[in-house]
Amino acid sequence: MPIYEYRCLECGKRSSVLTKSVGQEVEAQCSHCASANMRRLISSFAHHKSVATIHQESGPPPGYADPNYYSDPRNIGRNVEESFRKHGMDVPDSVQETIKAARDGDLPKGMDL
Ligand SMILES: [Zn+2]
Repeated sequence: MPIYEYRCLECGKRSSVLTKSVGQEVEAQCSHCASANMRRLISSFAHHKSVATIHQESGPPPGYADPNYYSDPRNIGRNVEESFRKHGMDVPDSVQETIKAARDGDLPKGMDL
């Protein structure tokens, strides 16, 4: 029986999931925090990846390399949304409204999103 390795996206720990057959979709659950928010690790080589490789695979922050990123109003507040998401939180309504207004060209005074 193949063992699939999963990375928990909540607590960052690895869990091994035993499957009955190759190619079968498994409901992975974190054995540390019981989260179902798991990402399949492709192979055991994942254990030995260098930090550089991990950075390469996860990629830079959205738009990081694009100097025009922040001149596109659609990207206003995206880093704010990302940081909420990273902490597993919903973007509060008030923040969402501020971001939406800013994207529509109504930049709040003294606020640098
Ligand atoms: Zn976990």
